[in-house]
Amino acid sequence: MHTTYDALIIGSGQAGPFLGVRLAAAGMKVGLVEREHLGGTCVNDGCMPTKTLVASARAAYMARRAGDYGVNIGGPVSVDMKAVKARKDAVVRNAVEGLTHWLGDTPRLRVIRGHARFVAPHAIEVDGETLEAPKIFINVGGRPVLPDWPGITDVPVLTNTSMMDLEVLPGHLVVIGGSYIGLEFAQMFRRFGSRVTVLEYADRIIAREDEEVSREVQTILEREGVRFLLGVRDAVVSPTAGGAPIRVALKTHGAAHEVEASHLLAAVGRRPNSDLLDLDRAGIATDARGFIAVDDQLRTNVPGVWALGDVNGIGAFTHTSYNDHEIVAANLLDGEARRTTARIPAYALFTDPPVGMTEAQVRASGRPALVGVMPMSRVGRAKERGETQGFMKVLVDAQTERILGAALLCIEGDEIVHSLLDVMAADAPYHVIRRCVHIHPTVSELIPTLLGSLAPLARPYSAW
Ligand SMILES: Cc1cc2nc3c(=O)[nH]c(=O)nc-3n(C[C@H](O)[C@H](O)[C@H](O)COP(=O)(O)OP(=O)(O)OC[C@H]3O[C@@H](n4cnc5c(N)ncnc54)[C@H](O)[C@@H]3O)c2cc1C
Repeated sequence: MHTTYDALIIGSGQAGPFLGVRLAAAGMKVGLVEREHLGGTCVNDGCMPTKTLVASARAAYMARRAGDYGVNIGGPVSVDMKAVKARKDAVVRNAVEGLTHWLGDTPRLRVIRGHARFVAPHAIEVDGETLEAPKIFINVGGRPVLPDWPGITDVPVLTNTSMMDLEVLPGHLVVIGGSYIGLEFAQMFRRFGSRVTVLEYADRIIAREDEEVSREVQTILEREGVRFLLGVRDAVVSPTAGGAPIRVALKTHGAAHEVEASHLLAAVGRRPNSDLLDLDRAGIATDARGFIAVDDQLRTNVPGVWALGDVNGIGAFTHTSYNDHEIVAANLLDGEARRTTARIPAYALFTDPPVGMTEAQVRASGRPALVGVMPMSRVGRAKERGETQGFMKVLVDAQTERILGAALLCIEGDEIVHSLLDVMAADAPYHVIRRCVHIHPTVSELIPTLLGSLAPLARPYSAW
């Protein structure tokens, strides 16, 4: 069978469905191919389910701390993992159903179930059907990788995908990888009641953050009982006959350790799904790590083929993938010339969230910069909430007075960052916020004060 479309989209991640609906609304006949669940990673085994689980974990954490607030809950707190999973499943199900109806009700858009592979620059094959279009948009995302440790394939290893099916509380969850995904699961399961150990190859967790952010996040998690082994080398995994089914033997800075795990979670990174597309048959180029090479308008080297979302390696977040669709739609349909280079990088780690350009990057850029830092122990709202861990840090260009970036490791940091981000996007000087009157009592009310405390970046951390 052979079908022709105006546009084909491969993958229903955080760009494909929205772009498909826009193209169809513009009168195009659109085919959207999905091999698994509509909504991709974010909806099914990424942001949405993990943040739903984080919410359950936070409820358990706050219930345990109830006494600190003068609230008596009359007994030890326990977590029903089946109920936690059922809540998560309901949130995901609602989202997928909503998306299914929305796409199904969109005139001129057909959802095609199956795995797509290129057979020519403007033709793909799905389950024996050949589909052709002058415009093809690739939104296939990525998948988790396992560390190449000896023995890793001899034991059951969980990933963010299989974690979604867990209905029991692990006795001892060992997380390989001390970055965003690993740390969110580590804190979450510690709060559910598991013993948790994080194994990290580098000498500090979340190594792309500034050192003091890494240090503070580690301290926060250690206070909750998460154990860290950093600088991990020579790890070997084996099944055991005893109680804990998995043993990891490893070294850290020469010292030997043996860790026995009931469950092992690999969170060491993701690889793009580009290798499963037969890109060579279309002549579409990738970089050395398999990300599809695109220009700043998300065009590949083959005219009429675009790559959006995690598979292009420019962003690795839902908001960057969604923004990719906005850029492509604006350029194709609205007569604009939007580019990915106009995007200000921002993200949150949903244990406690840092964001934006890091101090190390600013230092490396050689720009004369000012820094303002405020520990959360000085923020009234944090004291009232009894959550004074962390700090807020903002960096400003000393000459242009533009905000360069911020790390907000604090309650509501993932929300208040947007006041800084919006001023950055408006290319306005920092004193627009400095002079703004924010509502009391909020964390945001201290952002003007923070900006009022700017000092030259050369100031050492110890001077805070
Ligand atoms: C545990 C976890 C937590 C995360 N938390 C956050 C967060 O809090 N905030 C945030 O911004 N980001 C988060 N992310 C990242 C975020 O999920 C992704 O960046 C986001 O989903 C964008 O992905 P995408 O649009 O590139 O594609 P995806 O969402 O990965 O979707 C790709 C789709 O393509 C389909 N597909 C692949 N190959 C083919 C093929 N050949 N034929 C047909 N279909 C195909 C797949 O089945 C999938 O449905 C998290 C990720 C993980 C793993």
